[in-house]
Amino acid sequence: MIIVLKPGATPENIEAVKQKIVDLGYKPHEIIGVERQVIGAVGGDDHRKDRLQVLESMAGVEDVIPILKPYKLASREMHHASSVINCGGVEVGGNTIALMAGPCSVESREQLCATAEAVKKAGANMMRGGAFKPRTSPYSFQGLEEEGLKLLKEAKELTGLPIVTEVMNSTEVDLVARYADVLQVGARNVQNFSLLKELGKVDKPVLLKRGMMTTIKEFLMSAEYILSEGNRQVILCERGIRTFETATRNTLDLSCIPVLKKETHLPIIVDPSHATGHWDLVEPMARAAIAAGADGLMIEVHPDPINAYSDGPQSLKPEKFAALVENIRPFIKLMGRTL
Ligand code: PEP
Ligand code: MN
Repeated sequence: MIIVLKPGATPENIEAVKQKIVDLGYKPHEIIGVERQVIGAVGGDDHRKDRLQVLESMAGVEDVIPILKPYKLASREMHHASSVINCGGVEVGGNTIALMAGPCSVESREQLCATAEAVKKAGANMMRGGAFKPRTSPYSFQGLEEEGLKLLKEAKELTGLPIVTEVMNSTEVDLVARYADVLQVGARNVQNFSLLKELGKVDKPVLLKRGMMTTIKEFLMSAEYILSEGNRQVILCERGIRTFETATRNTLDLSCIPVLKKETHLPIIVDPSHATGHWDLVEPMARAAIAAGADGLMIEVHPDPINAYSDGPQSLKPEKFAALVENIRPFIKLMGRTL
């Protein structure tokens, strides 16, 4: 339920409403908007939610409205204004396009620092790189783990770019959170509910990637797991879904952008690297993503793609990434955004 407050509601009124929500067995989530202030009541017994209607008679309450969607805190019904998430100083979901770039895997100091400096020079405002890698084969490179996190920190000191890096396991959340500005949940973990709940308790933004078999509704329910534990800083990432098509690694579902913009207040970025699997398809899909209204891009860049430990075929050389940035600028401008 959404409890809409009157413009003149006092702090005492609000406290009393929140207490009543708790007494009725629900969790209150306060949302302070520009136009209106609301309190979401979620988490209780759905069959008994009519009991919340009693809040209508409390001082300071204007209206009590049911939320029809299964995702409550993620829905635009609850939170009209688009959320802007501060990621180590870069605001994602506002006017600026988030441009996250870097290697699939952190391999060495030389590889990471060279890439970080190159992407920064080209115009990226955030850096990506995996230290814990979810690989299809157990015989493939699994990542440098904490050593990789330390190298990411060094590259951040060098460039000032905030770090986005993946956390695969709930037991590693604290470790990764000590180094990362944004914690990435990979496509394969989108429904790892114990990991999502753990991330809901962290005070760091989470970049949640859509799974290859995840519907938009399921994707938003996964975001809801994080939000419901108290962490409001969630960024969604479309990275391609699995279809019958084999010409590309996945099928980039660009239509999810306008759908998600309608359904949720959370920012949505696009990863054209994993979506296409081929470096030469990354730029056209990056342009299309911006034109469709994405709030940002995540792009894999490697100084020597042929010898990359992972995802070489889809990685751009630094000079190709620099050209991509120049070629997406007119699209960014056309959309009324900046980089
Ligand atoms: C990655 O970002 O390197 C990655 C493994 O992505 P995804 O989870 O989308 O496959
Ligand atoms: Mn990758």
